[in-house]
Amino acid sequence: MTRYLVLLGPPGVGKGTQAKILSERTGLAHISSGDLFRENLKNQTELGKMAQTYMSRGELVPDDVTIAMIRQRLSRPDCAVGAILDGFPRTPAQADALDAMLQEFKGCVDAVPFITAAEDVLVERLSGRWTCRAHGHIFNEKFNPPQKTGVCDFDGSELYQRDDDKAETVKRRIHVYLEQTSPLIAYYRDQGKLIEIDGMHSIEQVSQSLLTALKMQSS
Ligand code: AMP
Repeated sequence: MTRYLVLLGPPGVGKGTQAKILSERTGLAHISSGDLFRENLKNQTELGKMAQTYMSRGELVPDDVTIAMIRQRLSRPDCAVGAILDGFPRTPAQADALDAMLQEFKGCVDAVPFITAAEDVLVERLSGRWTCRAHGHIFNEKFNPPQKTGVCDFDGSELYQRDDDKAETVKRRIHVYLEQTSPLIAYYRDQGKLIEIDGMHSIEQVSQSLLTALKMQSS
């Protein structure tokens, strides 16, 4: 059965970590809009260069380019079984565009897990976050350290700290989330699709809550 899930929650709550785990355990494709922008930036594409201005300020990339990028990604064959959307939609216009897009693919947003955590925890998690260069695996120097400092446990690639994980930019990103993305909580609650998940527990506990709430078997 094709399933499309939207992971909602503030920056630093663990959407990326949980989306990776859910994708591995369910076989659904993982689509991270932030990763797609970072990949474009690494490859110095026109899209990447344009997005960089917004990303470095902690602001949102304009809706039209973001929507076009996601449409292209959703058309790829690995999404035929469905997808976990992480970081998209982030505005009501993006959510409307997603509904229209999925109609074209004869699907719809099935469920929206909304992961929550206290704001001071978000700042602490983001400022201690280390990301793997090769595949975006995520570690935290305090809560989920790699076995060897600076090296990814999964693929041995270098770990780096994202520019936008610096304290000032983190605060801006949380502000942007509250202003532009939080209206989506009501949007999906009104559709009866929102499932609240407490993100203040361990990574494994949160994954289990997600799988149980979504009534999905771990493979
Ligand atoms: P993330 O990795 O999800 O924290 O995203 C990093 C940055 O990429 C964000 O701060 C935005 O600048 C940009 N970005 C990611 N997803 C979106 C989106 N859906 N709409 C607009 N900008 C986005």
